Amino acid sequence: MSVQVAAPAVELKELSGPMEKAAGPACEPVTAHPPAAPCPLPAAEREAAPASSSSSCGGGERPPLSGCPGLSAAAKVPQASAMKRSDPHHPQHRHRDGEGGGGAAAEALVSPDGTVTEAPRTVKKIQFADQKQEFNKRPTKIGRRSLSRSISQSSTDSYSSAASYTDSSDDETSPRDKQQKNSKGSSDFCVKNIKQAEFGRREIEIAEQEMPALMALRKRAQGEKPLAGAKIVGCTHITAQTAVLMETLGALGAQCRWAACNIYSTLNEVAAALAESGFPVFAWKGESEDDFWWCIDRCVNVEGWQPNMILDDGGDLTHWIYKKYPNMFKKIKGIVEESVTGVHRLYQLSKAGKLCVPAMNVNDSVTKQKFDNLYCCRESILDGLKRTTDMMFGGKQVVVCGYGEVGKGCCAALKAMGSIVYVTEIDPICALQACMDGFRLVKLNEVIRQVDIVITCTGNKNVVTREHLDRMKNSCIVCNMGHSNTEIDVASLRTPELTWERVRSQVDHVIWPDGKRIVLLAEGRLLNLSCSTVPTFVLSITATTQALALIELYNAPEGRYKQDVYLLPKKMDEYVASLHLPTFDAHLTELTDEQAKYLGLNKNGPFKPNYYRY
Ligand code: NAD
Repeated sequence: MSVQVAAPAVELKELSGPMEKAAGPACEPVTAHPPAAPCPLPAAEREAAPASSSSSCGGGERPPLSGCPGLSAAAKVPQASAMKRSDPHHPQHRHRDGEGGGGAAAEALVSPDGTVTEAPRTVKKIQFADQKQEFNKRPTKIGRRSLSRSISQSSTDSYSSAASYTDSSDDETSPRDKQQKNSKGSSDFCVKNIKQAEFGRREIEIAEQEMPALMALRKRAQGEKPLAGAKIVGCTHITAQTAVLMETLGALGAQCRWAACNIYSTLNEVAAALAESGFPVFAWKGESEDDFWWCIDRCVNVEGWQPNMILDDGGDLTHWIYKKYPNMFKKIKGIVEESVTGVHRLYQLSKAGKLCVPAMNVNDSVTKQKFDNLYCCRESILDGLKRTTDMMFGGKQVVVCGYGEVGKGCCAALKAMGSIVYVTEIDPICALQACMDGFRLVKLNEVIRQVDIVITCTGNKNVVTREHLDRMKNSCIVCNMGHSNTEIDVASLRTPELTWERVRSQVDHVIWPDGKRIVLLAEGRLLNLSCSTVPTFVLSITATTQALALIELYNAPEGRYKQDVYLLPKKMDEYVASLHLPTFDAHLTELTDEQAKYLGLNKNGPFKPNYYRY
């Protein structure tokens, strides 16, 4: 690859250089993280299927990333490891993903018992359901559902609270009925109001300040375009951060067409700014379900243009192409998927033998899990609570249900503000962590009468029941930070004896006959995504991983990746992290030759085995 990667403050090391023979422990194959929340889809089997990349702890020569023209040797992206998932409903069921040493051709499958077998080389025959189904390009609302499955959970469950900076709420005309052109005369887009572009541009410029890695990639791509010829169709939240990603992909040589993965989350101004600068964007805040699929279709169903890469968040775009345009997969080189839901769908396709191109699972990379779940929630829990309730945290008693990554982030933030924090857990390991971190581990029943705030972050269901809600004290605040709105039994509050009062956007008072009221936030949906913003820096990390995954899949020589789901390797995680270090003027220590030998590591990484828990 060839983007000249000048070292930022932290010198980027050779990412694809030869690996030193490990002197340390035998390499443990990588494992996909099981989903925290039960997948709405049937369980997909996860078995390890390993990488063509070399061992993370030595024992092989890492093959050079030939054909990855976009980044220089110093920025070569390591190959991903292929893995299928085990039953997502068994979070403990972690299989191995061997990175047994070997070159690009050394594909192997690792069974749960550790047996390594060579991966089958035959290309799976693709079967497409509904292949003959006709698609009405402008379907009416009636009968629309027959054309596709219902809008996905991911497209309705999460909301972006990103504020709109221009008020277009009085404009009731559907963007689909408007004739709009950008200043260059192009009408290949559909946004709420192209005139909002200037406001959107400002938002994008603000986001750029907090997305250093993407900006660095742009600079390094000058002259060499690793994505030249790439035609990327994307379906993600359309926010300022996504705009920075799209414009980076453009700077790296790609052509992009984009739709929103969520009917509520589009920032109209940002969509307008993208359309103004020539990106065919089809999205606006408050799309109907019909609009949602129409927008996706406008991205892929274009005369004289066919995508060769997919960037998806939730799997709806991938699903649409599978259903409506299966032949497109002949030209598609790969899918990059960010979300838990979308990744599950890919594993399902893989299991059914229907995945016909390689796919990268960005969701399970370490930098995504740690940053999105832990640090993002640590930053946004207070924001969400403050914006909705104006409350003071000092001295307040809070119970946090679940001490996983999200729970740890919430507890740390609240503790720092002087709250008295209790934790509930089912897992003795996480429970012990909570104790060691100085939190009181309790059963919810023990503290429910006294706490001021209840926060769920378990990914589970019915953690807060009607009984708990009945026992809460007056003015207790109840909210959820987990993926779906199953954690608090909100439905049980919709009974005749209770009165609901909407006191603010996303804030309901539920009033008992004796006058007691509880404060329910976002009707039990994700608090931070519903009521606050998410830190741009966190999104930068995920977006960088997406960009690198696209570069790798697009440039990989034929045969390197099979029709399977690949997990991003640790080395790529390390690279993403290293690109963000200059923000902090961080100075990374380099291993001496002697130290590297002692630890059995390559001086340039990866620095941890795949089983390492950060
Ligand atoms: P995790 O698996 O690391 O943690 C969940 C914890 O909850 C586990 O330790 C589990 O033992 C515990 N738990 C399960 N059932 C419980 C119960 N009944 N009572 C008490 N504890 C229980 O998962 P995570 O990464 O912390 O994610 C948690 C949820 O948050 C998931 O649904 C995830 O999708 C979601 N999430 C939200 C955000 C956000 O921005 N709000 C970001 C990432 C993930």
